[in-house]
Amino acid sequence: MKARAFKYVRAETVEAAFDAYAEADGDCVYLAGGQSLVPSLSLRLQAPAVLIDISRIEALTGISKSGDVLRVGALTRHAEMLTSPEIARHAPLLRRAAPYVAHPAIRNKGTFGGTIALADPAAEFPAMTLALDAEFEIAGPDGRRTMKADGFFRDLFDTGLEPGEILVAIHIPVFGANDRCVFHELARRRGDYAVVGSGIQGTFDGDRLLSARIAFLSVASTPVRARHAEAAIANQVLSPEVIAAAQAALSEDLDPEDNEETSAAMRMHLARVLLGRLLGQLGRADCMHEGVHA
Ligand SMILES: Cc1cc2nc3c(=O)[nH]c(=O)nc-3n(C[C@H](O)[C@H](O)[C@H](O)COP(=O)(O)OP(=O)(O)OC[C@H]3O[C@@H](n4cnc5c(N)ncnc54)[C@H](O)[C@@H]3O)c2cc1C
Repeated sequence: MKARAFKYVRAETVEAAFDAYAEADGDCVYLAGGQSLVPSLSLRLQAPAVLIDISRIEALTGISKSGDVLRVGALTRHAEMLTSPEIARHAPLLRRAAPYVAHPAIRNKGTFGGTIALADPAAEFPAMTLALDAEFEIAGPDGRRTMKADGFFRDLFDTGLEPGEILVAIHIPVFGANDRCVFHELARRRGDYAVVGSGIQGTFDGDRLLSARIAFLSVASTPVRARHAEAAIANQVLSPEVIAAAQAALSEDLDPEDNEETSAAMRMHLARVLLGRLLGQLGRADCMHEGVHA
């Protein structure tokens, strides 16, 4: 199918994008990498009168560290998550998740901000912003604000972004010397959306895990933090008993639904299996030295 005819406006600045938004009276949509939007237009799931291209706005680009915070511009491509030394060093969980995001062609165009603004519960990066305790820098016609990843993902494809607002950048606390992170997902085919996926970042004191943040994707209408499982492993050495307790606690965190492809019981089982594997990996002192492939 073809998209319905629309007017195309390229905005060179955030302010120009807001002007175009106001002129279109809200009957418009921002275009970043287009990797979700363009198929959606082609299928006529969306038919806005105006497409406002924000993909050339300089202020939405760049990766920089300031103090203990890494700022990742919303237009950073998924492919850059694989190649950026700053991401590898200061946000290695994103580096570990990046190979699981779609295929190279899509990773070359799709943007970090786009996937977060879209908030697909099966996408890797939105869930990882929960595990990383990220904060979002948001611009609107009336000014700027920030919002924590916790609370940002409200429902299916529904976020804390108000109509017309633009996600400018993602702020991530930098990876510490005593931090470790792991990511993995179970999918039917490589490059396909996961049946279930999870990423964990934790801070250790020797062998003892002080605290960790665990995030799951593909288990609900939003990315989900597994707070009960986090509580089960806090201040513990990750022994088989502690890991089993975290797996048991997961039933307090996740409540998946049946769908055509996977029953709720199967998804829950796979989430527990995945959590057990990830915690086993996280508990090994050399887990950050394991190879990460593209
Ligand atoms: C075949 C295929 C397989 C895929 N597989 C995966 C996968 O395995 N994992 C995965 O995570 N993703 C996958 N994707 C989606 C891909 O990662 C997209 O790139 C991503 O979801 C959207 O990013 P984008 O930059 O392309 O956004 P766009 O498609 O341009 O926009 C998506 C939505 O976000 C809004 N938006 C974009 N940027 C901003 C911003 N800065 N501020 C406010 N609103 C904004 C747009 O208005 C639009 O509503 C797949 C896509 C395809 C086509």
